[in-house]
Amino acid sequence: MTPLEAELRRIIAADGPMSVATFMALCLGHPVHGYYMTRDPFGRGGDFITAPEISQMFGELIGLWVAAVWQMMGSPAQVALVELGPGRGTLMADALRATRVVPAFAAAVRVHLVETSPVLERRQQESLAALKMPISWHRDFADVPDGPLIVIANEFFDALPVHQAVKTPSGWHERMVGVGPDGKLAFALHPDPIPGFATIAPGLPANVPPGAVFEWRAGDLAADIARRVAQHGGAALIIDYGHGESALGETLQAVGRHGFAHPLAAPSEVDLAAHVDFAALARTAAGAGTRVHGPISQGEFLRRLGIEARAAALRAKATTAQAADIDAALARLTGSGRESMGELFKAMALADPKLGALPGFDS
Ligand code: SAH
Repeated sequence: MTPLEAELRRIIAADGPMSVATFMALCLGHPVHGYYMTRDPFGRGGDFITAPEISQMFGELIGLWVAAVWQMMGSPAQVALVELGPGRGTLMADALRATRVVPAFAAAVRVHLVETSPVLERRQQESLAALKMPISWHRDFADVPDGPLIVIANEFFDALPVHQAVKTPSGWHERMVGVGPDGKLAFALHPDPIPGFATIAPGLPANVPPGAVFEWRAGDLAADIARRVAQHGGAALIIDYGHGESALGETLQAVGRHGFAHPLAAPSEVDLAAHVDFAALARTAAGAGTRVHGPISQGEFLRRLGIEARAAALRAKATTAQAADIDAALARLTGSGRESMGELFKAMALADPKLGALPGFDS
């Protein structure tokens, strides 16, 4: 039994079964035992690999996107560049390096990293030390000072806790985590239907068959970001895997060193994540007064930002082996196959409506 499982059992014994969202929040973020609190899970030797770890091209193109957006904002003398969940700090390091071609931006930018994990904060300090720029760390987006801002979140929202509802003949019931008859952690349904479910999941058809699952995120973070952007000017770029339309289906998954695992099997030893519902994010963003751009596929977004030209420029200076790596990274980031991120991952921006069309998006 993992130390976190012992803790979860104590909580369940005292308070009864907990929601899937509470379970996920504790598995990832428990201050002592949480998955992200205790390790650096990224890269080839880790549990999974993210786009900035695949190639420097990803962060570089996002850096140039950020500098272009700053110019569209009227080149304010100070702008906060905020990254949510920066992982190893690789994306930010590549982005800031690329923006050196716009010296006025480099002078205006104040970097704010929002990170809960002390282990990853140290990793980020190492990655960014060479840039010799002032960087502030925060545990919470609410602690970032007010002012014009550009927010980046890559593979961040998928790590935020999801609730699950299951349709039964007596309505939608929340899925809970408790202890089963065999003494193991097990899923169970809350005995009462979820109050006000129609407002949580607007637009779901009434005749959904029993057994169907619906997932949602309850926090205020997306709304807080959108309100800041609407009030102070700027934009937020969200890249993640997920679906463009709110849909039924269970996407919570656990990934460990050896591939997929059962989400309840080894609490805090495996990563937990679930698809991002971009339609729900877009509703929140529009409701807070920002204009929504996309979502479009990551592959399309990166091609429009010029990833093919960037790959060609890198290839021109590369050895044969390096050129093969560049081609493999390009295919992984933009391709549509099952092993690639180009189609499954989506890019969406929410922005101050005054900015108009944004680079990489249709409008
Ligand atoms: N953006 C990085 C890492 C993605 S993993 C990349 O693309 O490689 C998720 C990141 O979000 C980790 O850094 C994790 O520690 C952080 N994180 C997870 N939940 C968080 C929360 N509620 N607040 C702040 N950071 C969080």
